[in-house]
Parts: sequence; C-alpha cells; structure tokens
Amino acid sequence: MEASLQFLGTAGARHVVAAQSRHSGGLVWRVAGATVWVDPGPGALVRALSAAPPLDPAAVTALVLTHRHLDHAGDATAAVEAMTGGGFHARGALYAPADALDEEPVVFRYAQRFPRAVVRLRAGGSYRLAPGLTLETPLAHDHGVETYGYRLAFGGLTACHVVDTFWMDALPEAYAGADLLVVNTTRRSGRDRRILHLGADDAERLVAAVRPRLAVLTHFGKQLLAGPPARFALAISERTGVPVVAAEDGMILPLTPEALDAPGAPG
Ligand SMILES: [Zn+2]
Repeated sequence: MEASLQFLGTAGARHVVAAQSRHSGGLVWRVAGATVWVDPGPGALVRALSAAPPLDPAAVTALVLTHRHLDHAGDATAAVEAMTGGGFHARGALYAPADALDEEPVVFRYAQRFPRAVVRLRAGGSYRLAPGLTLETPLAHDHGVETYGYRLAFGGLTACHVVDTFWMDALPEAYAGADLLVVNTTRRSGRDRRILHLGADDAERLVAAVRPRLAVLTHFGKQLLAGPPARFALAISERTGVPVVAAEDGMILPLTPEALDAPGAPG
C-alpha cells in the first residue's frame, strides 16, 4: 500500500457544511500499513463508502477527532459503529479530547465501549498508532473547545495538520520540521476573536515560518471558497516560495519523498 492522504471532504464551518458545497468527510491517512481517519463530519460515512478508492471503515486503525465541533464529529458515532462491525468486533482505536467524550459526548456513550481502545488526547501527548506510526498533539489550540492539531511521523516523514484555531505565536514551533503541512484555512483573514479560525493570512505566516516541502490548504469556509482556494494557494506559494495547493474533495496525495517534492499533480 503506497502511503497517501485522501480528502473525503474539504468543508469548513457551518455554511459550507450545511449546503455541502464541499463535503465534510474528514481526511484519511494511509501510512505505515495503518489507516487513520480524522474528523468525520456530517455525511462522512457516505463519503467514505462512495469515495474512489472507498474507505472501508472496518479497516480503520485509528479514528481521530481533533475536537467536538459538528463539522469534525457529526458522523463520529456512525464511524465508530462501522469501524467495529456495529460493536461486535472490538477493534480500532478512538482518539479524542476529553470534552468530546465525557460531558455531552459527540460519540454516544454506548458506542464508546466498542473500539479496542479509547484514548483522551492531551497537550504534549505522543501516541503509537501502529508500528512505525506515531501521532503527537503538541499543544492545545485556541478554538473555544478542547482542540488538538497533530504531527504524524512515519517512514522518515513528518506530516502536520494544523486544525481549527485562532492564531497562536506557538504554532510555528509546534509544527516545525513538517515535510507536509496541512492547514485548516477557513477564512480570508484571521485575527477575529469572534470566529477563532485561521485565515489565509495566518496560513501564509505559518507556511513561511515552517517551510514544509509542500503545504495543503483545506477546511474552507464560504468566504474562502469564493476566492477560489487555488488563488489563495498560488498567492501564498508565490510570496513564500513554498509549493502550496488547495485541497479538493476526493483529492489523493501520494506521501513519498518524491511526490512531496513534485506536487504538480496531486491525485
Ligand atoms: Zn471547529
């Protein structure tokens, strides 16, 4: 199995999710022989089964919820049931912040008994998802609810996913050394404390500081979609000198050192 990242959805925030103008299925890492499904929002199970190639939920090694918001966890219980054969096969692991699992859980309590393991994420946490595959959650994001971005290390590569957050000066350090940097870029400009999302301006600052081999923008709000996202990606790329692409629903990115250095044709 060639290592890859598949976007089952690229929607960010309420309007785009409600209209499904982009899908909200989350993303799937197929790395180190493992399958990691992150942030199954509304419709994620349908998107998984109808994707090309489809994602077999019963083959998922780890289901990761970065935080409890609907666009990241709307199908979480459905995903857990599908991952565990309706609860009849104790397998797979669920990783989520405590506030997604305890009070008003976004994975119903009965289904929290189904996976082989349920792990509460924490700042500074390091988790071995599979042999040769480590997930780290370097810091808690500034997003109103308990939220963690992550670093995935496998096969000599580091892929980081900077999920929903208000800008934090600690972000570049937390995601330093990324070969691939995926940034949830929901708005044109960030720095609005009422919203607590990164803007394209924040994404540019992050890309310029981290300087990955390739950066991918995703999790688009309505404002950014009108851009369109590819225009923002190109502008960031031109100003920073770092290759940047805008994710599309269904896009598959091969995760080999060669592919990361030749990003012209993702998928
Ligand atoms: Zn959110």
